[in-house]
Amino acid sequence: MTDRSELTANQLAVLKTLEKSGRAMTAYDILDDVRDKGIRAPVQVYRALERLMEGGHVHRIESMNAFIACAHGHEGDQDHGHSEAVAFAICDDCGDVSEIPVPRAAKTIGAITGESGFVTERTVVELRGHCAPCQGRQGERAK
Ligand SMILES: [Zn+2]
Ligand SMILES: [Zn+2]
Repeated sequence: MTDRSELTANQLAVLKTLEKSGRAMTAYDILDDVRDKGIRAPVQVYRALERLMEGGHVHRIESMNAFIACAHGHEGDQDHGHSEAVAFAICDDCGDVSEIPVPRAAKTIGAITGESGFVTERTVVELRGHCAPCQGRQGERAK
């Protein structure tokens, strides 16, 4: 993960918005929030997101076309990064996204694809379902 001091003002504004929400946001959700910080064009948000993803600060949730702050990002934590792999458990009811490190799954996937000569650059696993609080709410409704 790159150091926060290397981030531009725009990148920092986008990252703070994602960290504050703690949820997956689309580029347009982000734009709404950073407008008062002088970011007005979607392209500025996309550019910031690209750099943040390269630095390991932000992940893209492909199936939601949304972005989320890395849950394991700690300031000064240079070792973090996702050379391994990461999985996201996504709730279909409330849109809650939890980041789950899956180093073992990545090794298994890497070993399997390696046999066929394929070189894996990154592994993204997205699990869709229902989070614990939503399951509880559904249970109550059924009563
Ligand atoms: Zn992460
Ligand atoms: Zn939920």
